[in-house]
Amino acid sequence: RAHVEAIEALNPRLNALLTVTAEHAMEAAKGSDAKRARGEAGPLEGIPLAIKDLFCTEGVQTTAASKILEGFIPPYESTVTSKLKRDGAVFLGKANLDEFAMGSSNLTSAYGGVLNPWSRRNDPDARLVPGGSSGGSAAAVAARMALGATGTDTGGSIRQPAAFCGIAGIKPTYGRCSRFGIVAFASSLDQAGPFARTVEDCAILLRSMAGHDPKDSTSADKPVPDFAKACTRSVKGLRIGVPKEYRLDGTPPEIEKLWRQGLDWLREAGAEIVEISLPHTQYALPTYYIVAPAEASSNLARYDGVRFGLRVAEKTSDLRDLYERTREAGFGQEVRRRIMIGTYVLSAGYYDAYYLKAQKVRALIARDFREAWSQVDAIVTPATPSAAFAEGENSDDPIKMYLNDVFTVTANLAGLPGLAVPAGLDPQGLPLGLQVIGRPFDEETVFAVGAAIE
Ligand code: GLN
Repeated sequence: RAHVEAIEALNPRLNALLTVTAEHAMEAAKGSDAKRARGEAGPLEGIPLAIKDLFCTEGVQTTAASKILEGFIPPYESTVTSKLKRDGAVFLGKANLDEFAMGSSNLTSAYGGVLNPWSRRNDPDARLVPGGSSGGSAAAVAARMALGATGTDTGGSIRQPAAFCGIAGIKPTYGRCSRFGIVAFASSLDQAGPFARTVEDCAILLRSMAGHDPKDSTSADKPVPDFAKACTRSVKGLRIGVPKEYRLDGTPPEIEKLWRQGLDWLREAGAEIVEISLPHTQYALPTYYIVAPAEASSNLARYDGVRFGLRVAEKTSDLRDLYERTREAGFGQEVRRRIMIGTYVLSAGYYDAYYLKAQKVRALIARDFREAWSQVDAIVTPATPSAAFAEGENSDDPIKMYLNDVFTVTANLAGLPGLAVPAGLDPQGLPLGLQVIGRPFDEETVFAVGAAIE
């Protein structure tokens, strides 16, 4: 009830949730009470969560924050959300996001941006973005509208909004969570993961979300460890890598300071700090912005006005006309930009020069990490190059917006787990986060290091 009241009070201003399922949630909570009374409580019994509106939820509208999916009510449930329900979680509603998860500000949502619940000390009226694409999920958790939330991360969409909103969030190893029933953006990069106020809560949620699923051929058949237990592990003797290529010109001093501070805490806890090199880092952003749009252009071809959601030109006898007018009315500017870029880099004349080249560079980026794992057990970097920015800042120039992902896209390209941990405040009193990257399927070390920083 407290969370439902917080939603009623705050959501009109924050716009974090696109669909509120409060009645449903209260009913489900009663069911949870009954289960608890019978001694049948699941590990998440009665825990109220917000679900990014990219996860298909049976009988509840799922929009991907796009006009093209308006009115789409999935007849089935995503694997991740069914696992959460199985364990007793209660869903409060569907969280706002950047349209089809494309963005770093939540401003590309067709249903309006989300306001970050934090504000600048010296300019409290500036409307700060929550980050993106999972901005609604992060804002909902930060504003105490939900205890936790689901997100997806293709290039940083869990870690960047977690950092901007002062909470924890993890993108697990590619394959750790099933992608079945999650609206696809870039299938070789997309991963689901949780947001919560603490690292341990993320660990608890991830344990429920993870696991093999025959319905997703890329989901890994690996046992799911007790991640929460890993949060209490000592970091003594661990080798923590600091990649020199992540020291970028123009990084604000507060980010440098945060990074040093985090490393000091780990050193004091007995970890060894090791400088490492990931030589292909500078190519990660351009590689990402070729691979992600290429896959997106293919995935988004299914929105044709026939199968899902919006249909324009109902009465036309020309199928092509129906496709074109539906897609023109249904897709926003950023989505169109991605489709254009993706189609271009996959086209016959440019495939070798762009897409194939990007795939090769992606392999080199993954190799850099593989080599690093012989020297270190985890890598610590800033999560973002700045604190939350205001609406209007960065939005005039898509390249500036893409630079937000400079520290996060590498983990997606290499398929590695990455955790964002709240680690301090900037001079304006805004939260800043550090990122912990780990070996494939070694979320346990990532959680141990994250909990030590937190
Ligand atoms: N900001 C990145 C993009 O716009 C990442 C988004 C994501 O992780 N879904 O593609």
